[in-house]
Amino acid sequence: MRTAIVVGAGIGGVTAAVALEQCGWQVTVLERAAALGEVGAGISVWPGAVAVLEELGVTGVQKAAVVGDPAGMRRPNGKWVVEATDLGLELPVMIHRAQLHDLITARLGPAVTIRTGTTVTAVSQDETGVTVSTQYGKLEAELVVGADGIRSILRESHPRYAGYTAYRGIAEVETADGGGETWGRGRRFGFAKLIDGRIYWYATLNRPAGQPAGPGGQRGDVIEAFGDWHDPIPALLAGTREVLQNDLYDLPTPLASFVRGRVILLGDAAHAMTPNLGRGACSAIEDAGALARHLREAPDLDAALSRYDAERRPVTTKLVKRSRAVGRLGQVDNGVLCTARDGLLGLAGLAASLRGKRPRVEQSRT
Ligand SMILES: Cc1cc2nc3c(=O)[nH]c(=O)nc-3n(C[C@H](O)[C@H](O)[C@H](O)COP(=O)(O)OP(=O)(O)OC[C@H]3O[C@@H](n4cnc5c(N)ncnc54)[C@H](O)[C@@H]3O)c2cc1C
Repeated sequence: MRTAIVVGAGIGGVTAAVALEQCGWQVTVLERAAALGEVGAGISVWPGAVAVLEELGVTGVQKAAVVGDPAGMRRPNGKWVVEATDLGLELPVMIHRAQLHDLITARLGPAVTIRTGTTVTAVSQDETGVTVSTQYGKLEAELVVGADGIRSILRESHPRYAGYTAYRGIAEVETADGGGETWGRGRRFGFAKLIDGRIYWYATLNRPAGQPAGPGGQRGDVIEAFGDWHDPIPALLAGTREVLQNDLYDLPTPLASFVRGRVILLGDAAHAMTPNLGRGACSAIEDAGALARHLREAPDLDAALSRYDAERRPVTTKLVKRSRAVGRLGQVDNGVLCTARDGLLGLAGLAASLRGKRPRVEQSRT
C-alpha cells in the first residue's frame, strides 16, 4: 500500500486524510495539539467545498445548514447600503467549526492513523521517499502533505499582518433579523444563523498586531467598538459567553509552487488568505478534493502532483488577492471615503436589482 503523512489535523489535514484513504493510501496524520478537534465559532462552507465533502461521503453539512434570508449590507445606524433582496448572492452553509471538523473525521477509516501531541520539526526527501522528523523520532512515507496552517514549517515565506484584527463569538439569543454585514469606519460586524438557533457573529477592527486587550478584555473591546451599533448587535454581544480574537494575516507573495518533489502544501500552508470571503477552509477542502481526483486520474504520482499544483495555485492566488482587496475596502477609516464606498456599493446593488442580475459585490464572511 502507498504511504502518506499529513502534517496537521485542521480542516485541510483531515479532509486530505479522508481523500488519500479513499484513493487507497495508508495515511498517518501528525498533529501537534494534544487533542483532535477545532476551536472557534461558525464557518461558512461555500457550494464548491460542500460538493467536495459530498464526493468524499462526508454527510451532514447540508443538513446542518440554516437556509436563511440572503444577507445584505448596512451602516452602523441600521440603514441599508445594499438590501438583502438586491444582492441575489449565493449563500454558504453556516456551521459550527467543531461540528464541521467532527463530520469530516467521522469519515476517516482504518487506513488512517492520527497521532496527536506530535510536532513535526523537519522534513527531508531523497529518491527513496520523504522523512519526517518529530520529537519522538523519524517516519518515512512516499508522499507528505503539509497542512500545518499559516505558519507552516514546510515553506520559507512568512505571513504578513493585514492591519486589522477579528473577533468572533456565538450568541445564545433569539432574533428575527436575517443577518448580514454592517460596515463602519475601520470596522465591520457580521452575523448569520446556525442550525440550532444560535447566532455566529464576527467583527473586524483596525489595530496594530499583538495589541493587548483593554481592561475589559476582548469582550470589553468589542462592546466599546460595536456596542452602539444597530439592533440586534448590542444584544448579540450581551448574549455571548466567549469572545475569540485573532489578528489577521495572509501570504503577501504567492508561492512559486505548491509541490516540491514528493512534498505538497495544502490549505493555509499553501495559500493563507484573510477571511474576508470566508473561503480559506473551503479552499483547503477543495485542495483535498483536487488532490484525490488527480491521484485517481493521472498516469503516475509526479503527474498527479503537478496537475494538483496547476489546478489549485491559480485559483487560490486569485482568492488571496480578492480577499485582501475586500478587506482593504471594508476597513477604510476615512469618513469621506467611507461615504463614497457605501454610495458606490448601494448603486451597484440598485443597478443589479433593476437588471434582475447579480451585482459584483463581494459579500464578506469573516
Ligand atoms: C476569523 C476567521 C474566520 C474565518 N472564517 C472562515 C469561514 O467562514 N470560511 C472558511 O472557509 N474559512 C474561514 N477562515 C479561514 C480558515 O479558518 C482557515 O483557512 C482554515 O482553518 C485553514 O485550515 P488548515 O487545515 O489549512 O490549517 P489550520 O486550521 O491552521 O490547521 C493546521 C493544523 O496543523 C497543526 N500544526 C501546525 N504546525 C504543526 C507541526 N509542526 N506539526 C504538527 N502539527 C502542526 C496545527 O496545530 C493545526 O491543527 C477563517 C479564519 C479566521 C481567522
